[in-house]
Amino acid sequence: VLIDPERLWSSIMEMAEVGGIPGGGCRRLSLSPEDGAGRDLFSRWCREAGCTVEVDCFGNMFAIRRGRAQPDRLVMTGSHLDTQPVGGRFDGIYGVMAGLEVMRTLNDLDLETACSVAVVNWTNEEGARFSAAQTGSKGFVGQVSLEQAYQLRGVDGVSFGEALDGIGYAGNRGPRPEQLVCYVEAHIEQGPVLEAARKTLGIVESAQAARWYQVDVNGETRHAGTTPAKRRRDAYMAAAAFAVQSRRHLLDMDPGIRFTIGRVELGTNAPNTVPGQASFTIDLRFPGDQVLDRAETVLRDVLSGIDRQEGTRSQLQTTHVVPMVGFDAALTTEIETLAGSNAMRLSSGAMHDACAIAAVAPTAMIFVPSRDGVSHHQDEWLEPRDAASGADLLFRVVEKKANPVL
Ligand SMILES: [Zn+2]
Repeated sequence: VLIDPERLWSSIMEMAEVGGIPGGGCRRLSLSPEDGAGRDLFSRWCREAGCTVEVDCFGNMFAIRRGRAQPDRLVMTGSHLDTQPVGGRFDGIYGVMAGLEVMRTLNDLDLETACSVAVVNWTNEEGARFSAAQTGSKGFVGQVSLEQAYQLRGVDGVSFGEALDGIGYAGNRGPRPEQLVCYVEAHIEQGPVLEAARKTLGIVESAQAARWYQVDVNGETRHAGTTPAKRRRDAYMAAAAFAVQSRRHLLDMDPGIRFTIGRVELGTNAPNTVPGQASFTIDLRFPGDQVLDRAETVLRDVLSGIDRQEGTRSQLQTTHVVPMVGFDAALTTEIETLAGSNAMRLSSGAMHDACAIAAVAPTAMIFVPSRDGVSHHQDEWLEPRDAASGADLLFRVVEKKANPVL
């Protein structure tokens, strides 16, 4: 490998100490003092590597190593340094540190590039404090306005704008989307696919589509002891039947569908009352919009069948739609060729900053394996040798793309 595996690993571990929690994880909520300290460390490392660090109005940080022939053209890599409240050491951080290692390796090898190379730390990827994920990357591409971002309220009541000022990262300089030659993000997989296939590198073709729904079931609130079974319009039983039947139908349709009911609320929520109201959420995901269209039809059919059977009246409302993101086919194939036999193609189950950037520039992602697929948890783990393989591939991709054959 051309990169320095030990330097990469020690940087990841040093970053993990900023906002470190027991068990080895991290708590660096977006724009918190810990995030500020992590940013300061990243900024110092980048300047020591000879980069210029620019910060834009969303707080996105861009470490730029100037190109010789076309300095205004940028090959960009990076990810995010913010974490979940009980986060791991690698989700996001790996991509930023791998990008930094690319810069350091370019320096070691005394390589000049034709285009500039940039490593970015996007603001608020996680959405754990300010609940709109990928704020920085969406802001960069114009999907979120500065006004919308600044008005976001954190779970602690502090606004995005105040928090950004508070840590001193409200900037006014940064590259524009038109300058991007391409964007390549390295990230830990956060799932079990690579590990199960015994592959070191994942070439990500797409990020799956997601739809969120809110379902409200109306029945009748009655006494639990006196109401005979036949007279009940039990909203909870209707919801439960819906869950079981929907799962069976959806998995029959395609076993790859992800169907989750993550929050259930009952109107009365009392042990001795037949619940008259049940509300619950559905999170539905699949790498393909047409399958989700069909899945939605299935859900509506199941729900009306249950209403007839249980005597309930239900409504299913769409609350959030994320279309599938396909990454750049040519760039993906180029990376796959550079990766060799240790790689496999896959689709991302999670959303990433790369999904936003894909709207404005050729974009691709490289995954490295996560042990047992664990993520958003302090036990998240990436083997050091896999970290090195991913960063080495990233180096070869960036070096190639920053030196176009004219
Ligand atoms: Zn992430």
